[in-house]
Amino acid sequence: MLETLSRAKKQRDVVLTFFQLNASRKPIKAEKLQEASNCSTAVIKSLVDKGVFEFYFIQTDRINFNGNSSKLKELTEHQETAYNAIKTTFETKQTILLKGVTSSGKTEIYVKLIKELLDDKKQVLYLLPEIALTTQLIERLQYYFGEYLSVFHSKYSMNERVEVWNNVLENKEKAQLILGARSSMFLPFSNLGLIIVDEEHEPSFKQYDPAPRYHARDAAIVLANLHKVNVLLGTATPCVETFYNAQQGKYGLVELNRRYGDVLLPEIELVDIKEKHRKKRMKGHFSDRLIEMISDALKNKEQVILFQNRRGYAPVIECETCGVSPQCPQCDVSLTFHSYRKELRCHYCGYKHAMQNNCGACGSEKLNSKGFGTEQIEMELEELFPDSKIGRMDLDTTRGKYGYQKIIGKFEAQEIDILVGTQMLSKGLDFANVSLVGIMNADNMLNFPDFRAHERSYQLMVQVSGRAGRVKKRGKVAIQTFNPYHQILQQVSTNSFEEMYKEQLEERWQYQYPPFFRLIKITLRHKDFNKVEEGSHWLGKSLTNIFGELVLGPSTPSISKIRNYYIRTLIIKIPQKQSLAITKNNILRVKNSFQAVKEFRPIKFNIDVDNY
Ligand code: ADP
Ligand code: ZN
Ligand code: ZN
Repeated sequence: MLETLSRAKKQRDVVLTFFQLNASRKPIKAEKLQEASNCSTAVIKSLVDKGVFEFYFIQTDRINFNGNSSKLKELTEHQETAYNAIKTTFETKQTILLKGVTSSGKTEIYVKLIKELLDDKKQVLYLLPEIALTTQLIERLQYYFGEYLSVFHSKYSMNERVEVWNNVLENKEKAQLILGARSSMFLPFSNLGLIIVDEEHEPSFKQYDPAPRYHARDAAIVLANLHKVNVLLGTATPCVETFYNAQQGKYGLVELNRRYGDVLLPEIELVDIKEKHRKKRMKGHFSDRLIEMISDALKNKEQVILFQNRRGYAPVIECETCGVSPQCPQCDVSLTFHSYRKELRCHYCGYKHAMQNNCGACGSEKLNSKGFGTEQIEMELEELFPDSKIGRMDLDTTRGKYGYQKIIGKFEAQEIDILVGTQMLSKGLDFANVSLVGIMNADNMLNFPDFRAHERSYQLMVQVSGRAGRVKKRGKVAIQTFNPYHQILQQVSTNSFEEMYKEQLEERWQYQYPPFFRLIKITLRHKDFNKVEEGSHWLGKSLTNIFGELVLGPSTPSISKIRNYYIRTLIIKIPQKQSLAITKNNILRVKNSFQAVKEFRPIKFNIDVDNY
């Protein structure tokens, strides 16, 4: 490119200056470039005409760039009370759970706490479940704290990460507030003052693969201990374990039960789709009631979010004649159909091949798709609401560095009327104009085979519902289900967290799960089926010799093979009173003798404590 400008010295200078200025890879103001390269507007304009540069109009508040903490919002009376309670409780409790309903302004409270610490020249670590999904929040904090804030992300380049690392180590001004996902916990804080764990209930705080396996919330508390600082755990839907710790007095508890502006929590309606099917009131996956509610919202020029939990419910192809579904050759799962590319894909190993016209087992051409994913919902919507703009947010549409931001930006700018998406939609998004949230099918998450399935479903549904009616008027939520009398759905619709908690705790006690017992999960993996099978039985016996009935398994997980590795798991339940050091020693001893057996040595052996 520089060659093409060889006869335009002025223009070449501008381009070189641009590269110098652009070290931080942020957009550069045309004025600033003009000033630094000492050229005229015309030179820059001719470069734009040549296609070397492009003008963008980025709306900014001038003061944004350096942050402007004098612009902090004034806390409401209730927020102020919560804030003061946090301050006093920190004097006696290291960790506090801030349980505040969705849109109660938890973020504003964090902001005020952060401001105080920064004024004291202390570092603050703000942990988020997934950085990529929280651009809205990052922008909000950038607005207040600007140059004091650094984002740390494992997907950043090595250089970027080294830079943040050094800034933290040297306690530089621009690394006073670190916003990061779980890995930011390992930064070399030298002057830490507070750790905030936002959305503490989020499963993605758990790091499983690769090791080290840890839960960032729990590890943050350990880190806080080392630095003798406080931890604030914030969420509308605490984990059963966390709330238990608060009830036991191990953590302080501060509650905030009103939404900002006293907007009521959304009105939640359970739609019985068994009944709707019987009465032929379904169009595809939409009940007449949901269609009516969507139409109403659209008529009022309001936006709609539709949630389709994809986990375990992706569209699978099934042969009508012989009932066989195409399987992944490397994993024990059915392949998922992606209509856009007419492809079958494995969500575990990435294997894919083109969709065939006939059954691989019997040759029949009668292939049906079973289950439904976001893609199918999107297609149905296009037929039901041909005049509306529909967007989809899931792993497929948010690839690429800014994929997610683009969709969020469009939705914010109201270029999308109805947004269909997966779990991604539950992560703290704040849209002013959404009046309706629809949950397409609540049952598949409730039926997931995991002792946390009910708790997780509650959290997910309350969080997704929380996207409705945040600012102006009370929002609405429709939950479609085959089983409207399910206790979790009743609890979601009446906002009965404590009832859910009590019931779940009861079950945890009865079946010996956390918080009453700790769980240690051992996973064995090998390509040879018989080897894993034998090894797991050997291990089961040895562990039972020591731990008796508290050993479960060996069992075959619901997905028993991934990437050609057969999998077996064993779970050991550890009563609260049992010494952890002794337990650990015992397990390591068994592991050593297991690996002393020649045939078992090549088996991959994973230990996960506090399995989530
Ligand atoms: P939460 O984190 O509890 O879900 P947010 O902090 O996102 O809630 O607040 C919800 C909305 O209300 C946001 O748009 C926020 O800007 C607004 N808000 C909250 N508290 C205040 C306040 N004290 N003054 C002005 N706006 C507020
Ligand atoms: Zn067939
Ligand atoms: Zn696979």
